[in-house]
Amino acid sequence: MLLPPASRIPNFLFAEEMMAYDFGPNHPLKPERLQRTVSLLREEGVVEPIRPKPANRDDLLRVHSERYIDAVEHGVANTLFGIGTTDNPWVEGIHEKALWYVGGAVEAARKVKDGDQLAINISGGLHHAMRDKASGFCIYNDPAIMISILRERFDRVAYIDIDVHHGDGVEAIFDSDPNVMAISIHESGKTLFPGTGFLSDIGKAGTNVNVPLQAKTTSDVWLWAFREIVPRAIDRFNPQAIVLQMGTDPHFLDPLGHLQVTAQDWLEAVRVVRDFGLPVAACGGGGYNLTTVPRMWAAACMTLARIEVPEEIPERLQALLGAKHYFDPDHSTPLQIGMESAKEAVEFHRVNLKALPLA
Ligand SMILES: [Zn+2]
Repeated sequence: MLLPPASRIPNFLFAEEMMAYDFGPNHPLKPERLQRTVSLLREEGVVEPIRPKPANRDDLLRVHSERYIDAVEHGVANTLFGIGTTDNPWVEGIHEKALWYVGGAVEAARKVKDGDQLAINISGGLHHAMRDKASGFCIYNDPAIMISILRERFDRVAYIDIDVHHGDGVEAIFDSDPNVMAISIHESGKTLFPGTGFLSDIGKAGTNVNVPLQAKTTSDVWLWAFREIVPRAIDRFNPQAIVLQMGTDPHFLDPLGHLQVTAQDWLEAVRVVRDFGLPVAACGGGGYNLTTVPRMWAAACMTLARIEVPEEIPERLQALLGAKHYFDPDHSTPLQIGMESAKEAVEFHRVNLKALPLA
């Protein structure tokens, strides 16, 4: 069924307060990423952000323990809880600040749970937070909370994570839940944080699908692996809804990862997810180059809403965003770096997914 193109992105959750989630001027996670993305979408005339409420304790308790929430709230800088580390330095009021991005996630997930086809919380995607521990810039695990909300209505929910880092927190939280499939395509844990997400890691329920790719893997290979594995996994698991984590850090200009994905190939993965035709609750994620994140997120939001992505970034914003075009120059030939790890993943999942009990 072909749906007519839309003119507005529905259910786009945003509040200025989300910008306060900030670990300081020398930390790579810059709230400016959000502001620039929203400015770009506003300039395109495609969003009317909806202001969520901050999340509450019950929302957090869906996936976090009481003692961890207490530690964050009362400022227990304790490496036991992952707070007060280089990645997650102690910041006064970080609990209250984090409640805003989680609030966006809660509201987006509720919209989809209540019947909407799409909702987006671009400030979220903090996939490394564990039940009892902050990790990798993430205090609370908003995609896991989204999954938990969607599970109230849907029997099976698939989580698809295209961030360059393994979605370890989400995977761990649902590790023994056969009704949640956690799919993550990422740079191998051999060369990148958090050092997990290998092929053999299928989880207690057998529903983890990890696609680890070697450092320097090129765009063509990344997209090939995604297309070979993800539709097969979705077909086999047969979910009724999807949570999509849209980390932009697989991009070749990203300072933290070592993959070489272009904006257009990354966007193609988003389009594949959209075309499954399932309800999608989407969130942001990583991405640390300010010239790539806003254009990739804006293009992803438009694509999910079936709005055609223009070629050029509006002139007024080109200097601010440090880019003229949404997409990168195309490679004229396939580069095929990383094919070995991609082929290994495709072969593994071809066999492994067959062993998955049918829903
Ligand atoms: Zn990341």
